[in-house]
Amino acid sequence: MQDSESLLSSLRLNMPLFEEMQSFTGKKYEEMILNQANRPASMSYFDHAVLESERARIGEIIEAREHGAKMIGTFCIYVPDEIVYAASAIPVALCGGTSLSVPYAERKFPRDICPLIKSTLGRAFSRTCPYAPLEDMGVGETTCDAKKKTWDILSQKSRFHILELPQKKNGRDAGLWREEVREFRDAVENLTGNKVTSEKLGDSIRLMNRKRKLLLELNEFRKLPLPPISGRDALVVMQVALNDERERFCNRLEALVNEIHSRAGNEISQFPEGTVRVLVTGCPSVMGNWKLHSIIETSGAAVVCDESCTGTRYFERMVDENAKTAEDMIDAIADRYFKINCSCFTPNNERIEHVVELAKEYKADVVIQYVLHYCHTYAIEAMRITEALKTAGIPSMVIETDYSDEDEGQLRTRIEALLERVKN
Ligand code: SF4
Ligand code: SF4
Repeated sequence: MQDSESLLSSLRLNMPLFEEMQSFTGKKYEEMILNQANRPASMSYFDHAVLESERARIGEIIEAREHGAKMIGTFCIYVPDEIVYAASAIPVALCGGTSLSVPYAERKFPRDICPLIKSTLGRAFSRTCPYAPLEDMGVGETTCDAKKKTWDILSQKSRFHILELPQKKNGRDAGLWREEVREFRDAVENLTGNKVTSEKLGDSIRLMNRKRKLLLELNEFRKLPLPPISGRDALVVMQVALNDERERFCNRLEALVNEIHSRAGNEISQFPEGTVRVLVTGCPSVMGNWKLHSIIETSGAAVVCDESCTGTRYFERMVDENAKTAEDMIDAIADRYFKINCSCFTPNNERIEHVVELAKEYKADVVIQYVLHYCHTYAIEAMRITEALKTAGIPSMVIETDYSDEDEGQLRTRIEALLERVKN
């Protein structure tokens, strides 16, 4: 097997810039994550996955492709991984969480689109995304406008499939979504030449459910008065979940859950009794983005729940395992994914009610809504969430920000003032 340096150079990346981004991410990770005291020992696997993932994981993907596997790039948790795995392909989440690649997107794209999209595209444009040269097919979904129009561009350059996600939640929409998921299955079969059989689908449904159950189990511990894992570490686990090899990830996560169980029994926590409990809701914080969680927790609070695509939306609800035929399994998969509450739906009462329910379940003292600049759907929905929380007697705040460090001081001041108010 090739060493990691020659693997990377075979991808024709802009190596100096790639190295700069790696070292920038490494420094941020040290500052925001590794510096925490009293972390669970089992987090070392996830640390390694963050700091070394782009080298080790790429080597694995190159090798798998040499044996005929296809890599499918994704940008959203509506893409059903079960189908990708059932065709022996590898799904990789390509969303960018670094500020360093944003300027490369701004040279070609309008500046007023969200940093998540700019970071993702910037990595592709600057040849620093090591997964891009390995991608056999990309999958986009019709969620927000910025994404939809991005697919117009990406689909001209490489093989690309667009999943049409309806924007309402009634029966006709659910039916359209089932058809879309079938069409996606056909596209994946076409790409890989592998039939998505009931046997393979059944296996991948069980494996994805195992992953979700373990993530759910881990998050249950965050409901305790003394959470045995920090919000920052729980976020790192979620970020790794999106790209790591699924069986290895589940085994490592199981070891972490066991450790967390014993920490809970011994009341080991990184937070003193009476720490203010925060629920974060809104846009996802993808790999490389630990900004908000770090500010909250270094301001003396604990993030106890994430209602986001790097949180509950990813692992809530299992795919029904009772279906027997491949067609029924596809319906069961489609139905599970259709219940994800992204703000692109209208109306979206389910998310609003769910944020209040989660705040109560996780005993959050306060809710912070995380809105990335120019993310109109989460920004507008924030108004109804603020109202619903107010009615439930739960204080909240909306934070609009991007990936840069520029507003860190200002955000810290606002968050500290909020925490003070909650304490008194
Ligand atoms: S926020 Fe919506 S569009 Fe973004 S990843 Fe989540 S489900 Fe997809
Ligand atoms: S954060 Fe908002 S604007 Fe950005 S990709 Fe997700 S839904 Fe779209």
